[in-house]
Amino acid sequence: MLNAGVIAVQGDVAEHAEAIERAADRHGESCTVETIRSSGTVPDCDLLLVPGGESTTISRLLAEEGIDEEIEAFAAAGKPMLATCAGLIVASSDPKDDRVSALDILDVSVDRNAFGRQKDSFETRLDVAGLGEPFPAVFIRAPTIDSVGDGVEVLASVDGRPVAVRQDNVLGTSFHPELTDDSRIHGLAFFD
Ligand code: GLN
Repeated sequence: MLNAGVIAVQGDVAEHAEAIERAADRHGESCTVETIRSSGTVPDCDLLLVPGGESTTISRLLAEEGIDEEIEAFAAAGKPMLATCAGLIVASSDPKDDRVSALDILDVSVDRNAFGRQKDSFETRLDVAGLGEPFPAVFIRAPTIDSVGDGVEVLASVDGRPVAVRQDNVLGTSFHPELTDDSRIHGLAFFD
């Protein structure tokens, strides 16, 4: 039985929990999902999800609760992690915004709300490396990824800009994979 954690200081917690359960089921794994609002739980998790929301708020709450260091240790231990949208901004090495204290576990620089200024929200069928069929990707005031470090693999791009990346055990998307009933991104991050 795997222990999954969803950071729940803000964001689509229930949708992510359901997606993790569906993905586990498809991969013949069983897991319990815990929602995390304070320190002490992350170290016991086998896999971890950092949802979207508002990156300034999420990073502040993670620091206040002392969850930030636990997530850094979790990623450093090589356990699988998925960070989506604002979660990706928080996980990045360079959010280019002083109000976000980033965790520096994904070697990417991001541009907050870069898609948002042009187009607030949109959905597109996205080719993602590792998935056979295109993924229905929902973007909501999404960040773009400007530059990626050497160890970072780009899994998907929109208009030449990376929107899904992987660095070893950490997968990041600038879209929201929990908003459709397609749980293949959760499967790719946690169970493939
Ligand atoms: N624009 C938000 C931010 O900068 C992210 C949006 C989202 O998570 N959907 O934090």
